[in-house]
Amino acid sequence: MKLDGQHALVTGGGSGIGLAIAQRLAADGAVVTICGRTESKLAAAMESLPASARHAVCDVTDEESVRAAVTVAADGGGLHIAVANAGMGAAGAITTTELSTWNAVMQTNLTGVFLTFKHAGAAIANAGGGSMVAISSIAGALTHRYMGAYCVSKAAVEMLVKNTADEMGMVGVRVNAVRPGLVPTELTAAITTNEFIQGDYIAQMPLGRTGTPEDVAEAVRYLAGPEAAWTTGQIIAVDGGHTLRRGPDMHGMMEQYIGADALRATLHGETT
Ligand code: NDP
Repeated sequence: MKLDGQHALVTGGGSGIGLAIAQRLAADGAVVTICGRTESKLAAAMESLPASARHAVCDVTDEESVRAAVTVAADGGGLHIAVANAGMGAAGAITTTELSTWNAVMQTNLTGVFLTFKHAGAAIANAGGGSMVAISSIAGALTHRYMGAYCVSKAAVEMLVKNTADEMGMVGVRVNAVRPGLVPTELTAAITTNEFIQGDYIAQMPLGRTGTPEDVAEAVRYLAGPEAAWTTGQIIAVDGGHTLRRGPDMHGMMEQYIGADALRATLHGETT
């Protein structure tokens, strides 16, 4: 198989899009290591992966933890593929976003990718080259009102991908991103259980449906493997065409949750 002998690390691989990526890479022969903060989630995910798969409890915001996960993934053959997928969301107007929330989003979505690229990148270079893929979001390209921290974190990830690609090409490390549109997972449950807001997302998609974790995993598999040998520094949208149009109307959802008056008050910096 095309990824036979390749070792791959998938952060946040215990659920959702990350688990589908791990399954897809493993299906083509990769020895996959999944990591995340919750042992029980990882253990459950391991049941859907081949016996060669490994797991490591890891918080991507913690450098020693990321270093240790890379060591587990590289054991016995070096590291060839790293997928920086772990991420979190947050909702709220800029005027009422707590600094702690802002910092948590940046640390998980941006610093987590940086630390993964830092340690996995060096390991992949030492193994003779390979591929790193970050999971961005359409929120990195289109504004989503009341999701400012998340949008900014993903836009920054895309520049981190380009800069790392520029630096690491000479040591044979390719670096790209997949930019998913709306995919029903734990992360997006508040959106996908809200008919109004999910409908607004789908109305912006020429292909007329939400994505699946497998849709995203297929693009990651392409970027991770030999088929993409001459591709680096690219951001591939897998979004049903959403980025041809506009961001979702999060205003309607926020009005439903907290009411029009309270929402307007938050824009004046009043917490409700
Ligand atoms: P899930 O919530 O299903 O999965 C996120 C995974 O990341 C979990 O397994 C979680 O495990 C792990 N994780 C979260 N924080 C950390 C951390 N600090 N360290 C290590 N692992 C962590 O979400 P998705 O599968 O939907 O999201 C995957 C990626 O795709 C994210 O980067 C997200 O922003 C992006 N994305 C998702 C879209 C969607 O519509 N679903 C659209 C666009 C982008 P644990 O909590 O146990 O650590």
